[in-house]
Amino acid sequence: MCGIIGIIANQPVAQDLYDGMTLLQHRGQDAAGIMTYSGQRFHEKKGLGLVKEVFRSRSMARLKGNAGIGHVRYPTIGGVGIENAQPFSCQMPYGIAMAQNGNLFNFYELKKQIAEEDLCNVSSECDVEAILHIFRSSLIKLAHKNKNQFAMDHLWKACKKLFSRARGGYSIVGYIGGKGLIAFRDPHGIRPLVMGKRSTEGKPDEYIFASESVAVDILGFELMGDVAPGEMVVIDEDRNVHRKIIHQEPHRPCVFEHIYLARPDSLMDNISVHKARMRMGELLGKKIKKANLQIDVVMPVPDSAREAALAASVVLKKPYREGLIKNRYIGRTFIMPDQGARQKSIRYKLTPIILEVRRKNILLVDDSIVRGNTSKAIIDMMREAGANKVYFASASPPLRNPCYYGIDMPTREEFVANKLTEEEIAKKIGADALFYQDIEDLAKAVRYKKKNNVKRYCMACLDGKYPVGDFDDATLTKWEEQRKRSHAELEKNKNGLPVLQ
Ligand code: SF4
Repeated sequence: MCGIIGIIANQPVAQDLYDGMTLLQHRGQDAAGIMTYSGQRFHEKKGLGLVKEVFRSRSMARLKGNAGIGHVRYPTIGGVGIENAQPFSCQMPYGIAMAQNGNLFNFYELKKQIAEEDLCNVSSECDVEAILHIFRSSLIKLAHKNKNQFAMDHLWKACKKLFSRARGGYSIVGYIGGKGLIAFRDPHGIRPLVMGKRSTEGKPDEYIFASESVAVDILGFELMGDVAPGEMVVIDEDRNVHRKIIHQEPHRPCVFEHIYLARPDSLMDNISVHKARMRMGELLGKKIKKANLQIDVVMPVPDSAREAALAASVVLKKPYREGLIKNRYIGRTFIMPDQGARQKSIRYKLTPIILEVRRKNILLVDDSIVRGNTSKAIIDMMREAGANKVYFASASPPLRNPCYYGIDMPTREEFVANKLTEEEIAKKIGADALFYQDIEDLAKAVRYKKKNNVKRYCMACLDGKYPVGDFDDATLTKWEEQRKRSHAELEKNKNGLPVLQ
């Protein structure tokens, strides 16, 4: 998961990009980068860490230009070194800069092909570099064919070529020197991307693309809606808007954005994340009600389970209490050398308010359960704080399958729901009762439409139905091995930055 943003405006954009990236910071804390374009050349600053750690007044002053793109990174494949920080750029046939959110599951295959075809190397472990190479190589061929005369059609053709080769879920923002701001979304629209417009009288309209609508709203742009699946949008330097559906497949936006990833104040494909989470809680509350338990308080595991817990408490007619306090200041500096230490980390991240916990029967609501380790640590903590009974509810149905479209998840064997029954999971995590959201209820909560409506979701991590790719067992096993190696690498380098637990 990463966050991307691109802006073309009437004044320097570096500050707006910076502010937008802080609004998208929850999508990636490992690295941040900005590239701006000042009419002649690109200006770049990339670094490891949070947006506020990477950019200083001096570097901001160097980011000149009225157009640019930004990226916050959470690694899914590849290491955590600066060489993998985005945006990436190339010089030929025009200066092109790109930033991506998502993942290509055929990245290593493409990397090999690019080396054979173009005799050039994709030097990073970052999929966007492969995307940039394929796009660029199509543009070079088209430029040669047309005596270096550029036409908008070249961009559509380059995008079409890219869609035919890049397999996975991805959203891209980019800037092409002298041509304009570009954005596109994979043919299934798995990863999110919205666009907006800001109008000032007497001046050309300004435009923004961002992973989440919150950045569009807060930077004072008017939300124009989503970039459609398989659509490419170009805002040329005269601010004309060119839009084209290059290749469209059935829409499959990521359901996990609603469960965990996105900010609640964002709209994802026109569905409010806040409202979807409230509906998840409401439906979960109805399910829990049938069990007729003696519950004193309903408590969220902060942050993404708040809405679900609140809505469940209303249905159950039980008080909602914030009984777990999150330390917001841990960040990158919190160094944990191994898995054992990371287990302990939950104790530093969350602390119970003993007065809210002691002698109570608590219903804890979390967004999901991955390996079960975090849930267990939290329940242990509640018991140590004097809880009487601890019931545990997950706003998500059981997670069972890895994601190959840009979200870092464990392998199939590591998901606790693949090893144990619900009863056994309850026992393992130490809960007096365990409730999972039903997949049908999740579908209702996110307004899943079955027929005659494009909005169906990717739910592959829950139901194993991957919208892109023919994943047989052998392929999945091969990728899991690859992912394990990648995780080991991350583990070694990133000193305990959080992976989904
Ligand atoms: S597999 Fe899960 S996390 Fe990945 S895109 Fe699909 S719904 Fe989202």
